Amino acid sequence: MQIKSILISISLLISSFGWAQKPDIDIIKTKNGTLQIQPILHSSLVLTFNNKTIYVDPYGGAKMYKGINAPDIILITDIHGDHLDFKTLDSIDTSKAIFILPEEAANKLHKKYGAEIVKLKNRQSVHRLGFFITAIPMYNLPEDLNSGHPKGRGNGYVLNMDDKHIYISGDTGDIQEMRILQNIDIAFVCMNLPYTMTVDQAASAVLDFQPKIVYPFHYRGQAGFSDVEAFKKLVNSKNKNIEVRLRNWYPHN
Ligand code: ZN
Repeated sequence: MQIKSILISISLLISSFGWAQKPDIDIIKTKNGTLQIQPILHSSLVLTFNNKTIYVDPYGGAKMYKGINAPDIILITDIHGDHLDFKTLDSIDTSKAIFILPEEAANKLHKKYGAEIVKLKNRQSVHRLGFFITAIPMYNLPEDLNSGHPKGRGNGYVLNMDDKHIYISGDTGDIQEMRILQNIDIAFVCMNLPYTMTVDQAASAVLDFQPKIVYPFHYRGQAGFSDVEAFKKLVNSKNKNIEVRLRNWYPHN
């Protein structure tokens, strides 16, 4: 009896230290089904609808995706290691995955990875597995070819999944192309310095395009985490109808 309870305690200890605790899955009702949202890490998330699984910017190693179906689609936003992470791609089952990504990222990708590679330029769209996916510009301001994110290289995305429109910002500054988005149901918006936006810029942009739900993500910067609570306050002080969802995108911390 005692040995058994000791063993149980040990296994509980191992599971609490050895496994990254993922945030709960969020479930959104759509016209014809349910959309599942699983925040993973930094800017990686998993979207599931109609038994199809989309990984966005898989990052952090295979352990982060344990227990999640292999991807049918992998969306990559840019060439940097926190978005195009070969260590993770090498360790998950990408055999049936359709990769959708910017050209510069595709050029770094070895053919072995997926079933199909779809290169998208900014503003181009593709239809796969019932989803309509459009590449949205993402870049830093002021525009400068030597900036971390020059215009035209990376892609944000808008995904049409059933009747829902989902925006994934990628690593962007406070750009007009984001502010003029319309009919966004769910938005994932970056805010970290010096790579993307300040909390103030992100809140101001979100108040402009008014998604129904917004998840701050990609908020680990050079000086630590951005203040996502402040982001929520800024948004809701001006518009209470935007639901700001704070999740732990850094489960190791
Ligand atoms: Zn990044």
